[in-house]
Amino acid sequence: MAVGGEGTVFQDGTRFRLFAQAPFLKPFRKPETVFVSSPAGSVGPGPGDYRMYVVDPIGKQLAYGLAEDFRGDPIYLMPPWPGDRFPPALPDIDGHFDHIAPEAPEFEAAHLFGSVRFTLDVWEKYFGHPIEWHFRRDLDRLELVIQRNLLENAFMGYGFLEVGIHRAADGAVEPFSLNFDVVAHEVGHCIVYSVIGVPDAGTAGAEYYGFHESAADLTALVAALHFDSVIDELLEASHGNLYTRNLVNRIAELTGNSQIRLAANPLSLLDFAHGWQDEHALAQPLTGAVFDIFVDLFHEELVARGQITADQEDLSDRVEDSPDYFRIIQPIFDEAYAAAPEEFREALVASRDELGMLLAETWRRLSPDNLSYAAVGDTLRAVDRMITGGRWRTIIDVNLRRRAIGSARVGPRLHPPGRHSHFDLPRVFVPDDDMTNW
Ligand SMILES: [Zn+2]
Repeated sequence: MAVGGEGTVFQDGTRFRLFAQAPFLKPFRKPETVFVSSPAGSVGPGPGDYRMYVVDPIGKQLAYGLAEDFRGDPIYLMPPWPGDRFPPALPDIDGHFDHIAPEAPEFEAAHLFGSVRFTLDVWEKYFGHPIEWHFRRDLDRLELVIQRNLLENAFMGYGFLEVGIHRAADGAVEPFSLNFDVVAHEVGHCIVYSVIGVPDAGTAGAEYYGFHESAADLTALVAALHFDSVIDELLEASHGNLYTRNLVNRIAELTGNSQIRLAANPLSLLDFAHGWQDEHALAQPLTGAVFDIFVDLFHEELVARGQITADQEDLSDRVEDSPDYFRIIQPIFDEAYAAAPEEFREALVASRDELGMLLAETWRRLSPDNLSYAAVGDTLRAVDRMITGGRWRTIIDVNLRRRAIGSARVGPRLHPPGRHSHFDLPRVFVPDDDMTNW
């Protein structure tokens, strides 16, 4: 129990019960009890504290952000929600929220708050400071909204995070408030706003949008690896071969076998040289490169611990793109993992923290104007030079080159943003002082 069992431990923190992965996935039907950093007693009804609060609104028809009034004129809807709300989640007498049963109506609110706080804790550890709200000029607190009218979507905007629902093929409703990956992804957008910022009006390039989505997915991936149950399940299922289809490289599962995106994907920037349509697809080459870097860091940790040999690691790199990869590599991992599962766990946690640190140090040095994947790659190399003296230079170079990052540029946008874009205006839009509140 902790933010992550293997990470920072907040024994004086507040307890929540979180589904480490979507609760319809078999190994995660029971929530895991975690501590978040908020001191016990500091989080009141909602949950809410001085940084953020959950609202479960009654009758909220429209999402926040840009909308139209009854005359068809544009208005910008901002928190706070002024209307009625369902009863809040209440802390127990010691200030914890883990007494709330998953069947209780207010569990969603507690889960949403706990997931956001858990993800912020993970990333504040890597950044070494609190993540400041990008909207602090206008609002003190982030409003977390449970929005049951918002189908298939969740988004972070100026002062709010709204999460909707997924309707499964069989008609079952899966609230995104209970999907840790989806919530952590939105917190990732918030971190990018905070530490990188928004480009000047009209200058947001394709790669800024793609980077935003990639960073959000990586935020969720690293955060999920702070649950004991995720680490256990990942190692049990893969025996350390992280290229198996597994819960960590499938991001934001919607059912047991469908998911929003794969971190282990084959896309290169060359696939977008003719143009792009969807920022989530455009994110894939960068996410794929970073995932490959993570796998290589893990292999280095295993070699350093004597769990696999340098020859076996080389072999894995050489056959990475081969159809025989699993036939050749899986038996090596099966044998090595069976001999030393605890060392595998330590290596995984060490490489997770290397990745988190590498990303945080890179992101904080990026500028939003004309942001390119090439600049992300150059900054990764510079950070590695600074922190390790260039120990990971080859790993970084090889994996960026395989995705044509640094050599290819993205072509023009082929179509206007689609209905599924949760991204467009809220990502670059900062409301003026005279915008309408409701
Ligand atoms: Zn997103």
